[in-house]
Amino acid sequence: MSVFDLIGDEYETVSYAHDPGSGLRCIIAIYSTALGPALGGTRFWPFESEDAALRDVLRLSKAMAYKASAAGLNLGGGKAVVIGDARTAKTPELLRAYGRAVERLGGAYITTADVGTTSADMNVISETTTFVTGTSKGSGDPSPVTAYGVWHGLKAVGEEVWGDASLASRHVAVQGVGKVGGGVVRHLAAEGAQLTIADIDREAAEALASDVGADVVSPEEIAGIPCDIYSPCALGAVVNDTSLPGLKCRAIAGAANNQLERPDHGDALADAGILYAPDYVINAGGLINVEDELHGYDSDRAHAKAAAIGGRLRSVFARAKADGISTAAAADAIAEERIRNAPR
Ligand code: NAD
Repeated sequence: MSVFDLIGDEYETVSYAHDPGSGLRCIIAIYSTALGPALGGTRFWPFESEDAALRDVLRLSKAMAYKASAAGLNLGGGKAVVIGDARTAKTPELLRAYGRAVERLGGAYITTADVGTTSADMNVISETTTFVTGTSKGSGDPSPVTAYGVWHGLKAVGEEVWGDASLASRHVAVQGVGKVGGGVVRHLAAEGAQLTIADIDREAAEALASDVGADVVSPEEIAGIPCDIYSPCALGAVVNDTSLPGLKCRAIAGAANNQLERPDHGDALADAGILYAPDYVINAGGLINVEDELHGYDSDRAHAKAAAIGGRLRSVFARAKADGISTAAAADAIAEERIRNAPR
């Protein structure tokens, strides 16, 4: 399939860059710059084909555009993929060549770390481009801000379902207690919520549970635990044809990306009377954190912007009710409108 066939009437720019000396082969996709520069990470991955890399970078750049728009950030959506095995192909020479490719786009695309790249890599890339964030001198690990935003999103869910933003009397089941999930658990524990947690790293789950007073169940059980809110903070596609009939929660709200296996699962949740906090709205804290770097990073300001995720979710819930659509569809509609209505 040709690139133009794949991009249809979407996407502003798809840029291929090559550097024979270092072996760099990368694709940078810019979904939109209507709201501002397209900020998104560099994924370094051994894609099985150029076609697979292109499809991934298109999908991911569009997702970034929706996330930025829904978060109220003045950023477009962009993403880059470097084709290769990060463990063997990633050299300083290649990263510098990649930085030059980013630089040539003149600021339309700003990069940051993603799967296969680190803040140390961003340091090297910053030798050849100024259009880079997430260096070790920048905003640092985004996970605490993501967790803080998710916690505010959970409070908005509480308000919507029970008319009470306090989660003190709520039972929350958290799947995955890594960097973000662990932070979410600690916020909830401090508020007095009842917690059930699971992680494939059972030891990590047990240690956190004894620290905060949570119950631990197996990774296989967590999605079906009878609870008020199920909070996926590990993997994507956790809402699928298999898991849906077994859900015993009143709401789903967590940090994981791409929680719905298919878009129509958003409708299925609405039909089942389960309130869904769209993933890219509630987990935008990481992007908010890195975006703040463009203004000279201020952690307090980043946290304050992440707290506003609660209000953004309330707008999504209101839109869903007003239009009689799922919350997933409402989030998309809000994100698309803001991009469409941006002054060019
Ligand atoms: P992480 O790797 O620190 O934590 C993930 C945790 O999930 C790990 O402890 C892992 O052992 C556990 N896990 C994996 N498979 C599991 C399973 N089947 N059942 C239960 N637990 C399982 O990652 P993270 O940074 O905390 O990110 C968590 C999710 O949030 C990811 O989907 C990520 O894409 C998304 N997210 C993260 C950020 C961020 O700022 N880190 C921002 C936005 C979205």
